[in-house]
Amino acid sequence: MSVRLSLAPEPPVEDGPAAPPWPHVPTVEWQVCGVCNYHCSYCIQSREHRQGHPTDEHLDRMLAFLGSLPGTWEIKTTGGEPFAFRGFMKRIVPALMRTRHRVSTLTNLSAPLPVLGRFAELTHGRLSVLSASLHLEFTAPETFITKLTSLRPLLADDARVVVNCVLVPDRLDEVRAARDCARGRLCVLPAAHEGQGRCARVHARPGGPRP
Ligand code: SF4
Repeated sequence: MSVRLSLAPEPPVEDGPAAPPWPHVPTVEWQVCGVCNYHCSYCIQSREHRQGHPTDEHLDRMLAFLGSLPGTWEIKTTGGEPFAFRGFMKRIVPALMRTRHRVSTLTNLSAPLPVLGRFAELTHGRLSVLSASLHLEFTAPETFITKLTSLRPLLADDARVVVNCVLVPDRLDEVRAARDCARGRLCVLPAAHEGQGRCARVHARPGGPRP
């Protein structure tokens, strides 16, 4: 179960129609590395598999394959932690930007802001979703949200930012505190779902949080 917060341009981007048919976007989900700089106790990947990254040769083949896909795809990159693999920023992101595809990324947002800013610059206009996971075992809400609100204006207006936070049993107070921290900086929508253990969402203007 997770709390989901999202930062979006003003006016907030909607999820799309509530019922099908939804527009079809062909996607590839690519686990670009196993390595992660965090070791969350609830990680679904065991520690022995949370390591390693592709060789240059493997990257060449994968990037050539993605480049050969017809039309425009959404390439969703995950890990491990993508930014913990040097090849992500050095090879993968630049190579994807030479294709027609759009990209989405799942990250724990631990990379330094200048690195995230460079990512925003490289992917400007081609980033669909930045999914940032808040791991309270390794970062504080204030640190995380400050970085996120600094990053948001660097991303294109049509890029969506979604925050996920794992609800760990017996530690829900920490998640509530994180939500309250976000609320002070951003605009939480809709509040009605939170008490039902479902999703909460936060929207913010690209230029900064709402009052
Ligand atoms: S940040 Fe994600 S991949 Fe890394 S240890 Fe935590 S849950 Fe696992």
